[in-house]
Amino acid sequence: MTDEKLEVMLTAEQIGNRIRELAAQISKDYQGKNPLLIGVLKGAVIFLSDLIRQIEVPVEIDFMAVSSYGVDTDSSGVVRILKDLEQSIQGKDVLIVEDIVDTGLTLNYLRENLITRQPKTLKVITLLDKPDRRKVPFEPDYCGFIIPDRFVIGYGLDYGEDYRHLADLCILNP
Ligand code: 5GP
Repeated sequence: MTDEKLEVMLTAEQIGNRIRELAAQISKDYQGKNPLLIGVLKGAVIFLSDLIRQIEVPVEIDFMAVSSYGVDTDSSGVVRILKDLEQSIQGKDVLIVEDIVDTGLTLNYLRENLITRQPKTLKVITLLDKPDRRKVPFEPDYCGFIIPDRFVIGYGLDYGEDYRHLADLCILNP
């Protein structure tokens, strides 16, 4: 890594190893099922694409895009759906795939919203969890890494739409 503002928190190899473990767990838990994985755009795209290639049950994918109303980097709690699903999830085994849980507001809203559409089951997997910053109680069903309260970028996560392409997960130092 040549950019001195960037400090590696998790290497691509560490992330890949953990994703293999998560995929093995999901393959076991969804044995004989055909789960629908819902990726939350844009940050979860790389995680979702790496994850599904390791899962050994047939999966379907769809995407949602949400944005929180708010002027700063803190989520306001009011979430707007920018892009909705292309299909009904009624009666399906649904797994929401997120990049990071921070305050918990986004996933709390998404879970409440999707539950009204009557899926058979609804679970959440997140690559990263920052439990120190929770504003509402929220527990993901599957989590890759619990991380400290630092702003991270890379592996799909951005700062002003930059850095998503980095293979490692990094801390952006000012
Ligand atoms: P929450 O509603 O849980 O506060 O926020 C979740 C969203 O905030 C994530 O999907 C992500 O877009 C953004 N976010 C939270 N923490 C970070 C972080 O450390 N880095 C980046 N790039 N985005 C974050």
